[in-house]
Amino acid sequence: MSSDRQLHGKSAVITGSNSGIGLGVAIELAKAGADIVLNSFTDRDEDHALAASLAAAHGVSVRYICADMSKGADCRSLIQVAGGCDILVNNAGIQFVAPVEEFPVEKWDQILAINLSSAFHTSAAALPGMRDRGWGRVINIASAHGLTASPFKSAYIAAKHGVVGLSKTIALETAGQGITCNAICPGYVLTPLVEAQIPDQMKVHGMDRETVIRDVMLLRQPSRQFATVEQIGGTVVYLSSPAADQVTGTTISIDGGWTAM
Ligand code: NAD
Repeated sequence: MSSDRQLHGKSAVITGSNSGIGLGVAIELAKAGADIVLNSFTDRDEDHALAASLAAAHGVSVRYICADMSKGADCRSLIQVAGGCDILVNNAGIQFVAPVEEFPVEKWDQILAINLSSAFHTSAAALPGMRDRGWGRVINIASAHGLTASPFKSAYIAAKHGVVGLSKTIALETAGQGITCNAICPGYVLTPLVEAQIPDQMKVHGMDRETVIRDVMLLRQPSRQFATVEQIGGTVVYLSSPAADQVTGTTISIDGGWTAM
């Protein structure tokens, strides 16, 4: 086996992986030889076609499993239908921007469910199998907003701080068992989720698109460059490698220096 197929024989479930960072992570894991389960809440022909094209491109098994990460039972059944997994990447996430006093209650509940509680449910379902095999990786896609705050994003920031705390707790509960749990904290990555925030940010700040990208979104990212999905995926592959066997209960920032300020 060549070193670039270092994850041959491992299985990975990536939640929310039919676009953006989740898909980028799935591609990097497939390149490293892991068998993949893609997920989202839709069940379209194109979702299954995406799985088939990834399998053909990388010579690994790729399945698409529809499950709604806002529902605890769906989160747990995703892992059961997948037959367990060696690498669990909790990535599904949504965003909504409003001041606290105007924040719709249903949006708060939905963001907490998808961005935080889903990681609790999938981890609870996946950990017994990882313990049986004596090897596992739980990798949570948190955010720079898991370490620091911005106005108008109360639910997202509360959920992402929660993900960082959940990651530390799982790390302590699995320490010494061949299982690690960590949170990756990206700054801004230009994906559909970020693209969708631009009109809201333009409205809140009364700015045009270019100005809001430069002076608001990337203001706190000193590199003034978006991170890429390949960089997030590469970090997931690193965390799944033997080099990271003792890396657990921590956060890895990929934020162009944001959290150094
Ligand atoms: P995206 O909108 O491109 O992808 C989100 C994914 O989650 C999609 O595949 C979507 O189908 C899926 N999803 C949404 N609701 C779901 C549900 N109920 N059940 C199952 N799947 C669901 O967004 P992205 O930018 O790729 O974000 C992915 C993760 O990365 C999120 O957790 C986000 O908070 C985090 N993140 C993103 C950035 C960024 O700048 N893009 C920065 C930091 C953290």
